[in-house]
Amino acid sequence: MAVNLLDFDLEGLAAYCESLGEKRFRAVQLFRWIHQKGAADFEQMSDLAKSLRGKLAGAAEVRGLVPISEHRSTDGTVKWLFDVGGGNAVETVYIPEDDRGTLCVSSQAGCAVGCRFCSTGHQGFSRNLSTGEIVAQLWFAEHRLRAPGSAERVIDNVVMMGMGEPLQNYANVVPALKVMLDDHGYGLSRRRVTVSTSGMVAMIDRLREDCPVALAVSLHAPNDALRDQLVPLNRKDGLDALLDACVRYLDKAPRDFVTFEYCMLDGVNDAPEQAQELARLVNGEAASRRGKGRVPCKFNLIPFNPFPESGLKRSPRERVTAFARVLQDAGIVTTIRKTRGDDIDAACGQLAGEVQDRTGARERLVQRRAVIPIAAAAGEGAR
Ligand code: SF4
Repeated sequence: MAVNLLDFDLEGLAAYCESLGEKRFRAVQLFRWIHQKGAADFEQMSDLAKSLRGKLAGAAEVRGLVPISEHRSTDGTVKWLFDVGGGNAVETVYIPEDDRGTLCVSSQAGCAVGCRFCSTGHQGFSRNLSTGEIVAQLWFAEHRLRAPGSAERVIDNVVMMGMGEPLQNYANVVPALKVMLDDHGYGLSRRRVTVSTSGMVAMIDRLREDCPVALAVSLHAPNDALRDQLVPLNRKDGLDALLDACVRYLDKAPRDFVTFEYCMLDGVNDAPEQAQELARLVNGEAASRRGKGRVPCKFNLIPFNPFPESGLKRSPRERVTAFARVLQDAGIVTTIRKTRGDDIDAACGQLAGEVQDRTGARERLVQRRAVIPIAAAAGEGAR
């Protein structure tokens, strides 16, 4: 099969050009044609040496993803479902805001982490996306949405918050991040590229060394007992180790805070006492088990997007507001995410889930759908 040039960061493309007997600077020209101009046809690349165009024509291609569908919400949100072969599909969502455009990108087909409230987790894990498949989502969206003939960027924020746990696909995600950040590629600021993880401690430390971008962590619970149930990965490292990794990460991060995502689940993790426990935890108060000093952070409270298999419900608005107020009173910047694209099922995994459940994960998760009562969960904090 022809080499997919979307698989390369600039370093990789330079090495590939050298392997064809071409100078490294040709890679910059090629990279700019592909990522800045959205070109896929080598004949279009007019300032590229004819000899290189000839060599590429036989051996390489710019292989994007095949869109299965495009849904446009009345609020401007656009959601694409891409075919990645083998009966798998992944989702990419564009969210326009007043001053910026954000693209939510997937890193895996399905996900092995299996969070209780996540539609993708209920589909099970199929496979990692290649670097080219991750980059192709941005390549497609940027050039599809950009006005014809314009060089003005449409997407200035990328969040790796779509399907999959990006840090479980580390080897392919890091080169994709480098393409996003490269001035000859999409030229995005490190502050505007966010990796969102369910909390893989060792990999957070690696990312800090290899490619520090903004970090978001899916927290969803104020104590290990509840988080063990909602985010099964927590059983490995636990909240203490996770929060310590967040603090270490901030040494090299482009932002001076970590964003904690917190999905608001009715009667599970949304009580005012749980907000207080959370505030004590991240503020490192002596009364908390951690008691090691503050984790500089912001909270983003996410209204749950219900789907039938979860057995969970969205927290009422007033409960979310009350939860936010407790955190704010404790000095923690807290926002409530606006729901976007409700009319097109924009929550991660909801369209792809209709394509298939490859591993029977949905069935397994339905079997353990008993809702955790707040009283039990709140009382299980000290371990
Ligand atoms: S929330 Fe993220 S890590 Fe958890 S199952 Fe869904 S995609 Fe995977």
